[in-house]
Amino acid sequence: MLIPIAVVVVATNVYVAAERALCPVSLHKVHFNYHFGSMHDPFHWYELDKNTHCCNGSKQSPINIETQDTKCAKLGAIQYEFKRRRQLRGRIRINGHGATLAFFKQDRLVTKDFPFTNGEYVLASMHFHSPSEHLVNGRHHAGVLHLSHYKKEYGSIPGAIDKADGVVVIGVFLRVRGKSENNAFNRYVDGVSAQKGDKHEIVSLDPRELLRDGDYYTYKGSLTTPPFSESVR
Ligand SMILES: [Zn+2]
Repeated sequence: MLIPIAVVVVATNVYVAAERALCPVSLHKVHFNYHFGSMHDPFHWYELDKNTHCCNGSKQSPINIETQDTKCAKLGAIQYEFKRRRQLRGRIRINGHGATLAFFKQDRLVTKDFPFTNGEYVLASMHFHSPSEHLVNGRHHAGVLHLSHYKKEYGSIPGAIDKADGVVVIGVFLRVRGKSENNAFNRYVDGVSAQKGDKHEIVSLDPRELLRDGDYYTYKGSLTTPPFSESVR
């Protein structure tokens, strides 16, 4: 059986400079799913709620990153404040939108000097998409892990998604090649595999192991699911 391994794509940085008014965000829950052919599939997401039309797509994610159009800049590595405890604990939830590992409150990590942001961002959860949502030079990767953060002063992801600087998501591209040697990634995959029925698996891992040294792309974009708020670095 093939198992994906985590890799960071080495590349330069891309900026999207245009700053416009933030989209209105629907405050009630919008129902959506990935069951293609249903009325709530991705082809219908834009019409689920009038507030999800979202600024005519001025900063909508995902995007196709054309490496020849990116600008190279010297930025610091992505890192977190030092915490003595190595492993973080969290609970896996499979909700029809994906398999999310939500970290317990006392275990959450805080970013340090995250580029193009002011203030601290708290790592709330991680999940994956397959294939990757973003393209690089027109091509998908086999998958991507998303590490979702909210700005500390906004208190939570729901409290942050309607703020221009509310959310930071780190994406780690995946490829398929035998068994992964990444301990943190294996713990996540094992936790998802072990999940059965309503019982939520508890998983311990160190998300810092998922980030490799290397270059990365960064730009100002949006949530990729309703309400598509343009609040994501
Ligand atoms: Zn995602």
